[in-house]
Amino acid sequence: MHAWRMIARRHGGPEVIEREAFDPGPPGPGEVLIAQEAVGLNFIDTYYRSGLYPADLPLTLGSEGAGHVVAVGEGVTDFSVGDKVGCVSGQGSYASHRIVPAGQLVRIPDAIGCDEAAAMMLKGMTACYLAEDSVALEAGQVALVHAAAGGVGSVLAPWLRDKGVVVIAHAGTAAKAAGVDADHRLTGAFDALPEQVRALTGGRGVDVVYDGVGKDSWSASLACLKRRGLMVSFGNASGAVPPVSLLELSRGGSLYVTRPTLFDYIATPSELTHTAQRLFDHMQRGVVKAAIGQRFALADAADAHRALESRATTGSTILLP
Ligand code: NDP
Repeated sequence: MHAWRMIARRHGGPEVIEREAFDPGPPGPGEVLIAQEAVGLNFIDTYYRSGLYPADLPLTLGSEGAGHVVAVGEGVTDFSVGDKVGCVSGQGSYASHRIVPAGQLVRIPDAIGCDEAAAMMLKGMTACYLAEDSVALEAGQVALVHAAAGGVGSVLAPWLRDKGVVVIAHAGTAAKAAGVDADHRLTGAFDALPEQVRALTGGRGVDVVYDGVGKDSWSASLACLKRRGLMVSFGNASGAVPPVSLLELSRGGSLYVTRPTLFDYIATPSELTHTAQRLFDHMQRGVVKAAIGQRFALADAADAHRALESRATTGSTILLP
């Protein structure tokens, strides 16, 4: 077997990503060996590469992927050779082959291809828990979604609309915004958002802001919220949010803030299965789709990182081993 993976031996820019051959060996007890057909690109991969999120070095990058089972270890009864499976993990998916615990795998329905699954395992499940589990939103409530043309955003916006939530979408350019499924589309500087959002909501502000941009949008996001509104700060695409003053939340109108992470919403096998089922159900009903805007060879992962970090991508990006 000619297995290979993309690793970082040190933290830094995209140039630290390098290819290496490796021998995955046979799967141990409870483990499964997968031959991956597609790998999803995620902003989180850039955090592990840069060192924003701590990780032991060297590390194999990558958070989501899909492929077929080629071997199972002792005691594995839920999966067999040939099964189409997907996996979400903090690291390890930038590889032609990988070994994962069977409990971290999800069976992919026949109607969903490996490309789509690889694009959606992490980003789609994130949209699911953000819309369904991080806050109890009702039809008619209003949400502001940043980076709505991006990987997570392009799934989250239609998911919310399907619930009857009014979506105000923000994207960096008019061209990106044009493709977003939303009730209102805004572009331009974050500073201008509060005035635009107040105009759209009769001065009230939105019930919830979904903010994966982080540092650059934080203040504007708070200023877009209604009194007692909820800030869901779920990412750092522009950099980490600086330390927050609780008085800022008080002055903003008794605001709520949560800083969730997917892995706390899929921590048990039943939570993982439930979230994957809701995602696949939404995909098969056509509510959401894997909007694959870019494809790169996995060996060119550094170029994919450059594109993502320079806001040059739309929808999801997949990397092909
Ligand atoms: P995206 O495809 O959404 O790419 C990030 C987007 O952020 C860009 O395309 C850009 O959209 C916007 N952006 C605004 N300012 C900047 C900036 N200075 N630099 C780079 N991008 C900027 O990425 P993903 O879908 O992979 O991830 C989106 C967010 O979700 C990330 O913050 C990620 O960390 C987070 N995430 C969080 C999870 C969680 O559970 N907490 C799980 C998964 C992802 P535009 O130009 O339109 O503004």
